[in-house]
Amino acid sequence: MVQKEFKAESKRLLEMMINSIYTQKEIFLRELISNASDAIDKIYYKALSDEQLVFNKEDYYIKVTADKAGRTLTISDTGIGMSQEELENNLGVIAKSGSFAFKNENEVKDGHNIIGQFGVGFYSAFMVADEVAVTTKALGSDQAYKWVSTGAEGYTIEPGEKETVGTEIVLTIKENTEDEQYDEYLDEYRLKAIIKKYSDFIRYPIKMDVKGQ
Ligand code: ADP
Ligand code: MG
Repeated sequence: MVQKEFKAESKRLLEMMINSIYTQKEIFLRELISNASDAIDKIYYKALSDEQLVFNKEDYYIKVTADKAGRTLTISDTGIGMSQEELENNLGVIAKSGSFAFKNENEVKDGHNIIGQFGVGFYSAFMVADEVAVTTKALGSDQAYKWVSTGAEGYTIEPGEKETVGTEIVLTIKENTEDEQYDEYLDEYRLKAIIKKYSDFIRYPIKMDVKGQ
């Protein structure tokens, strides 16, 4: 297992996410679904130029699974997945993200505006989760990898178990506090409403599976 620290700018953004008092925490789901959709797009476009690769529409979807008892929310996709190196490069650093580049250019001081208008992507998961675990298998690879982080201290990457190509992101949803409600992110109807609000235009099916409602 490899234990690593986030790059400085990623750490800063991550801390902002974790301590966010931002009211629209619900946008984390939009961000994760949009990444899942992007990952399926990548296979779709690859298939256009690669005769070996056939894109069967019914094989490509996003799935949101809530487990109330286990307090986990899982977002999985049948997209292109990530290699070990891609996991490291894509989830260890946020500097590449479009929204972060915008922030630097414009010296916007209020991070909350950024979240609302442009989305900060993957790290927004930490607004609602104590732990984020990403298990992924890249197209053309036999080996899956698992990335786990509980926040700003860093993350680990190790070989993981996954049969099919794609990515599975498991969020361990925070406990409710006096000021903040997190249980709602495990509730079927609330999740459906969030998906309808922000992800209605996604061109792949979003399936939903709820346990213990
Ligand atoms: P952005 O989407 O703006 O690039 P994100 O922070 O949302 O920034 O995601 C960072 C990167 O992590 C993505 O560009 C992508 O390469 C990778 N990534 C995130 N989620 C997935 C996923 N579900 N499947 C494959 N790659 C992913
Ligand atoms: Mg994104």
